[in-house]
Amino acid sequence: MAIQLTSEEKKLIEHAKKAVVRYNELRNSKGELATFYAFVLSDSGKIYDGACLESMGGGVCGERAAIGRMFTEETYSSKIKAIVIFCPVPKELEYAPTPCGRCRNVIWERGTESTSIICGQYIQRKGGWEFLPKMEKYAIKELYPNPFKDPWADFKG
Ligand SMILES: [Zn+2]
Repeated sequence: MAIQLTSEEKKLIEHAKKAVVRYNELRNSKGELATFYAFVLSDSGKIYDGACLESMGGGVCGERAAIGRMFTEETYSSKIKAIVIFCPVPKELEYAPTPCGRCRNVIWERGTESTSIICGQYIQRKGGWEFLPKMEKYAIKELYPNPFKDPWADFKG
C-alpha cells in the first residue's frame, strides 16, 4: 500500500532524491562511496540537508547533521515538520532503515508528536542510483512512544 504524503513531503522527497544524486556524484568523483543522507523540513518551510559523518571516534548520523544545520540557520524555537532519510543498501530490504535511538530522541525533542519520518533506500548501480519505490512513513510518536523525560526538568530554577 502506498504511503500518504502531503504536498510538502512530496517536495521534500524530490529535493532529497536530487540532492542524493548530486552529493554522490561529488563523492564518486573523489573515489568515495555513497552514504546515508537526511533532509529536514523546518516549520519555517526551509529544507536542510545532512550526511552521515562516519568516524571510528564517534560519528554523527545524517539526521542530527541536518538538524544541526537547521539550528545554525534558524533558532532553537524552530520545529522539525518532516524528515526524509535515504540509506544506501546492497539489495532491497524488507523496510528501509529507520533513525537510531539517539536521533529518535533528538527528533522527538525538536519536533512535534506528528513530525513525520519518511524512510527510503537506494542502490548504487553502474549508471547511477536507483531509488526503490517502496518507502515507509512514521510519526515520531510511533517510533518513539515513550520518550526520555528529565524527571527534574520542572524543579529546576
Ligand atoms: Zn542516528
